[in-house]
Amino acid sequence: MLKFLGRGSAFHSDNNCAFFTHNDRLVLLDCPMSAFHKMRELGIEKLAGSRPENITVLITHTHSDHIGGLGMLVHFSFFVWHIPVVIVAANDEIKQDISFVLERLDGCESSAYTIISPENTGFTPVTVHHAVPLKGRCFGWVFDIDGKRVVFTGDTSSLEPFMPYLTDGAHLYTEASAYNSPVHLHIDKLKALMPELRDRNVRVFIMHLDDEETLRSAADEIGAELAPLYDI
Ligand SMILES: [Zn+2]
Ligand SMILES: [Zn+2]
Repeated sequence: MLKFLGRGSAFHSDNNCAFFTHNDRLVLLDCPMSAFHKMRELGIEKLAGSRPENITVLITHTHSDHIGGLGMLVHFSFFVWHIPVVIVAANDEIKQDISFVLERLDGCESSAYTIISPENTGFTPVTVHHAVPLKGRCFGWVFDIDGKRVVFTGDTSSLEPFMPYLTDGAHLYTEASAYNSPVHLHIDKLKALMPELRDRNVRVFIMHLDDEETLRSAADEIGAELAPLYDI
């Protein structure tokens, strides 16, 4: 379903970013700077398979490892690719924050992008608990691609908000951390839920990895997979 331009956590050089193409759109889940540069080097048409009508970006939250490349993407899409960028903001606060970053700080051309609400887009935001300073401004996303349920957690300390959306056969892309902290989902929390997820035939991919080697063995042990990287 999803491919990743990076699956590292905040202090890695390849920050977490997933994408897919659908209905002539290239859809990105967040846009760190490392992902922008991979898109630029590769070329948008190669990445998307053909020239997309627009680039749609679903924002999970505004930590810089998630939106650090958003302004650059908007500039580059406008000046070089000539492809509009549509940003889906989960609520009004995110809308205002992103608008401030793009309009006021980054000085993006107003015709280069639009920021829309998720209503009627087919993308459902799910509120998560992550970092306290961003309380009420952190989300995961749920959507269906060709009849397949996709659940993408973004950064979250718990999978609880997603359980109602994890229907039979769903694909779950969840963050998982080796280091135990109150803001991320420690791998042991995921491990505890694996029997329930197996019962629901949920395929589990882990992403936003802080220690890939440790998490690779943990994933093998619990029956999860590492998020698939796009082969550049
Ligand atoms: Zn992060
Ligand atoms: Zn974060």
